[in-house]
Amino acid sequence: MGKARVLYWFRTDLRLHDSPALKAALDLDPEVLWPIFTWDPHYVYRAKGGVNRWQYLLDCQNDLSKSITKLNPKSKLFVLREAPQTVLPKVFKAWKVTHLVFEKDTDSYARERDKIVTELAEKAGVKVISPYGRTLWDSDDVVKKNGGKATMSITQLQSAGKKVGDIPRPIPAPKSLPDPGEMPVDFSQDRPKNKPDLIAPLRVGQEHAYNSIAGPKGDFAIETLEELGFAAATTPHRGGETLALKTLEHIIADEEYAATFQKPKTSPAAFRPQATTLLSPHMHFGSLSVRLFYWRVQDLVNKYKGASTPPESLTGQLLFRDMYFAAQAAIGSPFLQTINNPYVRFVPWHLPSKVEEGTETGTNAISGEYHIDSKEAEQWFQRWKRGTTGFPWIDALMRQLRQEGWIHHLGRHSVACFLTRGGCYIHWERGADVFEELLIDHEPACNAGNWQWLSCTAFFAQYYRCYSPVAFGQKWDKEGKLIREYVPELKKLDAKYIYEPWKAPKAALDKAGVKIEGNGLGEHKEGTYPGPMLDFGERRGVCIAALKTAYHINLHGNDEQVKNGEWRKL
Ligand code: FAD
Repeated sequence: MGKARVLYWFRTDLRLHDSPALKAALDLDPEVLWPIFTWDPHYVYRAKGGVNRWQYLLDCQNDLSKSITKLNPKSKLFVLREAPQTVLPKVFKAWKVTHLVFEKDTDSYARERDKIVTELAEKAGVKVISPYGRTLWDSDDVVKKNGGKATMSITQLQSAGKKVGDIPRPIPAPKSLPDPGEMPVDFSQDRPKNKPDLIAPLRVGQEHAYNSIAGPKGDFAIETLEELGFAAATTPHRGGETLALKTLEHIIADEEYAATFQKPKTSPAAFRPQATTLLSPHMHFGSLSVRLFYWRVQDLVNKYKGASTPPESLTGQLLFRDMYFAAQAAIGSPFLQTINNPYVRFVPWHLPSKVEEGTETGTNAISGEYHIDSKEAEQWFQRWKRGTTGFPWIDALMRQLRQEGWIHHLGRHSVACFLTRGGCYIHWERGADVFEELLIDHEPACNAGNWQWLSCTAFFAQYYRCYSPVAFGQKWDKEGKLIREYVPELKKLDAKYIYEPWKAPKAALDKAGVKIEGNGLGEHKEGTYPGPMLDFGERRGVCIAALKTAYHINLHGNDEQVKNGEWRKL
């Protein structure tokens, strides 16, 4: 028996299978091992994180805890209700920890947090071990092999990955786990006072959940939605390693589906079942190892005649994921925004309106080609967010997102293009914020990267190719099944008008029991659906012209910048 007293810190690796970090912890032959999870107000816990993502996290935690207990009845997932930066130094000392082990995380916030924790551990004489396991390759190695630069295309990722080496094969889950040691918490009174940001977002009436590091009963219990002040979740999608592995096996069992998968051929209108794997939230929380996913598919592809290839194949999707992770690893927190991000084109999108009614401030100063009051743009944003744009395809997707926390990739394309360069001309960061709140698979690198792609500010530049909020949906779903499901006010409308109800004759509307009425902003009046908030054909032209100007200025600078020699060339 070794002498190591190991604190194993679970974060976005809520699994026992294929965990290089957990293996590293067990390789220490520990005398005791505490599997812990700390509350991290910045991360899943930001007040912004919607209830559906919380539910998913709780599913993952509960499932993991049960699996730990199966391996050692004295153990479970111990939840410490305080931020790691403040609770861990106290735990190191009180529990006589010798090693802290966790899976490496290259998200910009995680890096910052882990740097602080590592310094505190070293100060306390605790050795830190942190192998990677969240991506196919270590994103930092990818960046090195890409000349220190962000991976801005799948080809760059693939060629850097090749130089890093083979994608490691998954490793099995452990068969047993050591006992946890004693867990004194008499330092609880040292909790940071008046700093709720270091504890958790306090909700009125729920303070008891936050009173002790070990929870109200002192047993390090996993929190419940009720304790946290949330109402029930609305998503049908559930989390946890057990379910993730079962789903993966189900997908692999359909050899034709898994081996010939071509993303562009999967339908954004399919739901229950959806057309793609819906494994993204499992990978976000680490309840499924990305390398297990990769190798299960690749082994199948190797023996399958006529299999699809990246970037359209299933393994290609995982490469996209690694591409965004490595891009963020290279750029750090500016990757999540436009400011200080050298790879993102500046576009003078409409900013949120704080102006008095009727003031004309939102004119696009650069193109000068059109005039939109930013108040109007703000209303468009609010209607997009609520799913009341008057375009049933967009509204169905936005309501599916709010209700279920997941929408198909091409559905994300549709709504993101519509909000930014293909309709409203609103800043992609505002859309990314809404996705951050509502997605159960919210992944900072993938969210920001894909929004940049869709808004044509980085990764992709064909701004003249816009998704029609009418024709694109019709291509996949003539009958409008997705709309009927998520926009029930239009449930009975004839398929001929379901994508453009404002064009329906009165008789067709009467038959369906719906009136085109309201501005999509106030309270919803039953039996009504708003008219379209903009003329898509017109806006498409306006957006393309504005993007053309913005691209020109990004490349050549505006007159003043040229004069001063200060434009930022991409
Ligand atoms: P599948 O098609 O089955 O793909 C398998 C896996 O590959 C996914 O689970 C996911 O991990 C990965 N993957 C697939 N497509 C992409 C992609 N384009 N970029 C990165 N990884 C990919 N994905 C997230 O995981 N988190 C996000 O926050 C996120 N935000 C997005 C925002 C926008 C505007 C857009 C257009 C896309 C976003 N995506 C995001 C990417 C993609 O839409 C989802 O990963 C995918 O729809 C998840 O469904 P799935 O698991 O069925 O995917």
